[in-house]
Amino acid sequence: MASETAATSQRRRPAEDMLAELKARLREIADLRAANAVLSWDQATFMPEGGAAARGRQMAMLSRLAHERSVAPDIGRLIDTLTPYSESLPPASDDARLIRVARRDFEKAIKVPADYVARASAHAAASYQEWTRARPANDFKSMVPYLEKTLDLSREYSQFFAPYAHIADPHIDDADEGMNAASVSKLFGELKRGLRPLVDAICDQPEADDSCLRREFAKPRQLEFARRAAEEIGYDFQRGRLDLTHHPFCTRFSAGDVRITTRVNDHDLGDALFSTLHESGHAMYEQGIDPALAGSPLGHGVSAGVHESQSRLWENVVARSRGFWEYFYPLLQRAFVDELAGVPLETFHRAINKVARSLIRTDADEVTYNLHITLRFDLEVRMLEGRLAVKDLAEAWRAAMQADLRVTPPDDRDGCLQDVHWYSGAIGGAFHSYTIGNILAAQFYAAALKAHPEISGEIPRGAFATLHDWLRENIYRHGSKFPPNELVARATGAAMSMEPYLQYLREKYGALYKLPAMVN
Ligand code: ZN
Repeated sequence: MASETAATSQRRRPAEDMLAELKARLREIADLRAANAVLSWDQATFMPEGGAAARGRQMAMLSRLAHERSVAPDIGRLIDTLTPYSESLPPASDDARLIRVARRDFEKAIKVPADYVARASAHAAASYQEWTRARPANDFKSMVPYLEKTLDLSREYSQFFAPYAHIADPHIDDADEGMNAASVSKLFGELKRGLRPLVDAICDQPEADDSCLRREFAKPRQLEFARRAAEEIGYDFQRGRLDLTHHPFCTRFSAGDVRITTRVNDHDLGDALFSTLHESGHAMYEQGIDPALAGSPLGHGVSAGVHESQSRLWENVVARSRGFWEYFYPLLQRAFVDELAGVPLETFHRAINKVARSLIRTDADEVTYNLHITLRFDLEVRMLEGRLAVKDLAEAWRAAMQADLRVTPPDDRDGCLQDVHWYSGAIGGAFHSYTIGNILAAQFYAAALKAHPEISGEIPRGAFATLHDWLRENIYRHGSKFPPNELVARATGAAMSMEPYLQYLREKYGALYKLPAMVN
């Protein structure tokens, strides 16, 4: 490039000042959201019940302030003025990408009227409240009017983004930029075709015995072990902490404070351990983002699917592998001498990878889990398209469970009432990211192994740094700088693909269940 003249430098100065102003404004929005996240974390961990009403009001207030600032016309003007400037910057520079993401966020936010946001969030709160009563009572009927309104609101939301190819597209794009109903349907069709023979072959074998996980395991020792495992794989406790909650999650307040939560069950050794490692995977992603991106719209994980790939890579691909337990199992046995002394590694490894057709998504194994997701995705799409009425959802759910998993829920509590998503948010884009995460986890791991074949020999020695460094270098540090498709291509040299995942499942479960080669 030709050297810069004083004149262009002069013309650029205001652009640089405006960029600094935009960054300062975006940081204030990020700070409001982080403050809200602290309130939300506290609500889910330590807040006494009596705090609920005031907390709800305080959080709604902070959300409103953040939203108002994010749609302020002067932010739009800053972004408009900076767009030509961004085109003069190197296309992969932080600033060019920041302006792109700020523009995308702004354009999406201004399409949704404030009165819609208020109506939708009030309805979501009322629906969630009713669901907490209706699910234990197995009362789908009382949820029908709520869900009908949710469906109306979800369809209305899509209209703000018209024209679109499919009514689910705006919801899917919110979770995973660049994906849409057509691309997800195509992937899921391919996945189902690959999974069905594998699930059939596994379920033809004698069921794995997981009774060794169901003995009584003291909670403090479980937590201590989970904490140690999280620390050894690379979650940084200097910039994080682990607390107890009902539904484990990870939350980021700043680059130096990314927290995880877990739950512990004294009759299920896997619960605290795997949920802690899952959330550690989310947290390591957030902890690994380049500090230069902090406080900007690039300073967090890029999409729901990519985020989920990082939690599942550590939880499933690494922490349910044989190599991982060659290192950790002797330590676990030392922590639970009476409970595990007579249980061989082989038995334990099979137990934590037990595959069985089951009713509940969150309890499902790594293989059948995806069938729970593809089923929900199909139902969402049919409801949005108007091909399935809400009142017929429970019946459609039972039919789909029977067709895809060959089990029929005895009631709606363990059927279409089981997940909070539709009852506290939108219908559309609510579930597909979990399976996108599984698919990408295998693809990223295969790319890491290709670059560093030594990783598979390091894990059995408890050495995770090579893998962690590869993930930090190729995924974590970029935050939201590259859209998901570009990130995947940069990290793996290919577009998102099903093949590494199916191959991973076939190899792992082929060996565990001694399957005939026909499923390959
Ligand atoms: Zn997750």
